[in-house]
Amino acid sequence: MSKPNYSRRAVLKAMGLGVLAAPIAGCSGPLTSLAPKAKQPNIVLIFVDDMGYGDIGCYGHPTIATPNIDRMAREGMKFTQFHVASSVCTPSRAGLLTGRLPIRSGLTRVLIPQSPGGMPDDEITIAELLKDAGYATACIGKWHVGSKPEHLPLNHGFDYYFGIPYSNDMSPGTQPDNPLFKDQPPTPLIRNFTVTNPDKEPDQRYLTKWYTEEASKFMKANAGKKPFFLYLAHTMPHVPLFASEKFRDKSLRGLYGDVVEELDWSCGQILETLKDLGIDDNTLVGFTSDNGPWLGKKLDGGSGGLFYEGKVSTWEGGYRVPAIFRWPGRIPRGVTNTDFATTMDLFATFARLGNANIPEDRIIDGGDISPILFGNGPGREALMFYYFGDELWAVRKGPWKIHVKTTSPASVSTWGEWPIEEHDPPLLFHVEHDPSEKHDVADKHPTIVRELLDVMEQHRRNLVAGEPQR
Ligand code: MG
Repeated sequence: MSKPNYSRRAVLKAMGLGVLAAPIAGCSGPLTSLAPKAKQPNIVLIFVDDMGYGDIGCYGHPTIATPNIDRMAREGMKFTQFHVASSVCTPSRAGLLTGRLPIRSGLTRVLIPQSPGGMPDDEITIAELLKDAGYATACIGKWHVGSKPEHLPLNHGFDYYFGIPYSNDMSPGTQPDNPLFKDQPPTPLIRNFTVTNPDKEPDQRYLTKWYTEEASKFMKANAGKKPFFLYLAHTMPHVPLFASEKFRDKSLRGLYGDVVEELDWSCGQILETLKDLGIDDNTLVGFTSDNGPWLGKKLDGGSGGLFYEGKVSTWEGGYRVPAIFRWPGRIPRGVTNTDFATTMDLFATFARLGNANIPEDRIIDGGDISPILFGNGPGREALMFYYFGDELWAVRKGPWKIHVKTTSPASVSTWGEWPIEEHDPPLLFHVEHDPSEKHDVADKHPTIVRELLDVMEQHRRNLVAGEPQR
């Protein structure tokens, strides 16, 4: 992993032939817009790992103190119907980065260190779009869409990378009894392509702090010179949990609270740095989580609030996450937004704000949500496909959601041993009246059940799935 493996696209780019300059059916010329460019904002996306909807003060947690994230919400917009692309790490990240359902890139399963698969070369990430539009780009933190050199961030649109390429529990040091990781190296902490710790585990107590320092350095290096896109994908609060001494044993919520409170401190540092650099008013900062809480970890896992279940499941607790966006002067202050939105929408939204061209040769599942962020346009109808691996298990259209299969991973501590139930007829919930999915009303609304089954069927029929990445 010490030197780059230049992919076809990286080589094309080095030759000045970016993917968007390639001919696309129906387009006779280059896609680069000749229109004068509006000022491109800096974009910072803080993406935490396995934090549930209910784990933040302003989302109702009674004993975790998150003053900085709460302040972000007061100074910006807080979403209550915001979803991820998948309820586990790898596909969730694939959906965020490509704006597409993970099934389209084939990234439907959690990758492990020995997985040869990763982000396919022909997928276009939001970092690639923004880089082509003139942005400096950095990925700091957990990547988890491929750990082989060709899949690492520098081959997918990022100028700089510092972090660990998969989860923090996938090494012999962190899971000594798991045969899956017996012959694997210590958790690699990578800078660009270089493993900084070939012989020993990184001291995970300092990951949040190190990522924050790296993020500040990157912002300082680019402020006033180039617009930047910072993807700060924290390793925490994924189990095993670690907090530095300053936060350890401080939270009323115990270790999980310590870890979230350190992440909150990190958010405060980011906001502080933006202010110090004088770029606060030209920076969009987003905060969200990659999936719901890992409930099988008991006290070490978070909370989905009033949503049922968590990570791995297709219940709302797995897919519904906290999401806050702040941009002083552009995003109205102190608004709670109940519009439906997803992490896949950030692809088109960031591209639009950054004057980047959205590729037209492929299906982009997300849409531009800037009208709702700026409070000057309507939201769109909710439409959400909930996958478990590569199987479609649930769909939401408008306020209605059906499940044809479900699992309850909170009940098991061993990864993969999920009890699965099939539902024929499907379960039906009105997720606005009944966000906890407690009251199945399928027998009262047979027409809606049929309509949603049709939506599922049509989606399955039209879907072109990507080569499975394992
Ligand atoms: Mg996760």
